[in-house]
Amino acid sequence: MIVEMRAGANKEQVDHVVERAHSLGFDVQLNIGTEKTVVAILGSDTGKADTDLFAVLPGVQSVTRVMKPYKLASREFHPRASKMNVSGVEIGGQKIVVMAGPCAVESEKQLMEAAKGVQKLGASVVRGGAFKPRTSPFSFQGLGQDALKMLARVKSELGIPVITEVVDVNSIDAVEKHADIIQVGARNMQNFALLKALSGIKHPILLKRGLSATVTEWLTAADYLLSQGNRRVILCERGIRTFEDTVRFSLDITSIGVIKQASHLPVVVDPSHAAGHSAYVPSIAKAAIAAGADGLLIEVHPNPEEALVDGLQSLNFPAFERLMKDLRPIAEAVGRNV
Ligand code: PEP
Ligand code: MN
Repeated sequence: MIVEMRAGANKEQVDHVVERAHSLGFDVQLNIGTEKTVVAILGSDTGKADTDLFAVLPGVQSVTRVMKPYKLASREFHPRASKMNVSGVEIGGQKIVVMAGPCAVESEKQLMEAAKGVQKLGASVVRGGAFKPRTSPFSFQGLGQDALKMLARVKSELGIPVITEVVDVNSIDAVEKHADIIQVGARNMQNFALLKALSGIKHPILLKRGLSATVTEWLTAADYLLSQGNRRVILCERGIRTFEDTVRFSLDITSIGVIKQASHLPVVVDPSHAAGHSAYVPSIAKAAIAAGADGLLIEVHPNPEEALVDGLQSLNFPAFERLMKDLRPIAEAVGRNV
């Protein structure tokens, strides 16, 4: 249930709504906007509570039942698009944020070279997997803790924020210490134990769409991350499994528009994991920006031929440079800049 306060409603009136909710056994979350405050009434039994219980309270403008399974990620709760600051980089603002780097951190030299290269070409966040969720247990699993230290060095030497994936509850502490943004991979989108454990932390979290998740399931998973008050959740469309087998996954370009209507959270697109091949990455990336995405997460490797993971879909520096150049007029056409 969403209680929208009148513009100018005072703190006492908001507190009164919160007290009433608590007295009925519900939790609340507040969205204190510049003009008005919205109170989300949360609990498994809100459906049984009469909306009039809140509608009669002073300062309340309207009470709406949110019939969607997700509440905190919804536009009803937070009518304005969320902008968030991540170590000095604004996500969800006018500037398209490009996060780029190798699929996996392979060595200090490879990561530093990749990071310097993408930073010079306009990326504002460096990506690099320390813990890799691999389909086969015999594939390279990532350098783990050592990779986190290398990412920390990139961050301190180049002054650029880093994003890396957390694959299980045990590694949250380590990842939290070194990463600016924590990535939840597609295969973990509905790992509810992991989402619950992450809900208590302060870091921004990038939540990838599951390989076979609907947009509703994805936004409902985002609610787990938002449930303890963390407001910095970024969604990442990375393609879903369909009958099409010429690409690794089918990038659902429509989800961008759907998310923008249904949710206030920023959405970035990962064209690399959808495409599965570097040849298709630029066209998907450009389409994503034209469709309204707030950013891109792109795999770039100094030497894709030697990559230990996802070399086929990684851009080299010249290809990344070309893409960044091609993105500019597209971003401008939709009122943004890169
Ligand atoms: C990744 O970004 O390195 C990754 C494993 O992506 P996904 O979870 O989308 O497959
Ligand atoms: Mn990858």
